[in-house]
Amino acid sequence: MGKELPVFKGYSVDRRLEEFRRVRYHDEGPDIEFVPFDSPQGQQLLSEMEAEIHVDEFDEWTCICGNTSLDEGFYPCDAEGNMVEPTIEDWTTNLYRCGRCFRKINQATHEIVA
Ligand SMILES: [Zn+2]
Repeated sequence: MGKELPVFKGYSVDRRLEEFRRVRYHDEGPDIEFVPFDSPQGQQLLSEMEAEIHVDEFDEWTCICGNTSLDEGFYPCDAEGNMVEPTIEDWTTNLYRCGRCFRKINQATHEIVA
């Protein structure tokens, strides 16, 4: 057996072959479902998988672009993505902006909102 692949929603995620795979069980026996990344279903799964940043047990953020607070960092921003001062008056969105890819991240849920 090779290195274990990450699993998302029951699918093994194979980035090398660019496909999702899962075993399906039928009355006549199991088969393997292949979902290529570039298929509509694969695109849907990819976008769901990439809808949140990674947060570790120390609350360290890693954006899906690979940026962390030790690299380009994350900045409070408004709904348009403009950097703001993190004060009650200026920062009403609870959004952070990734300093590398400029995705906007909801601080509370860690969802990537844009
Ligand atoms: Zn990023």
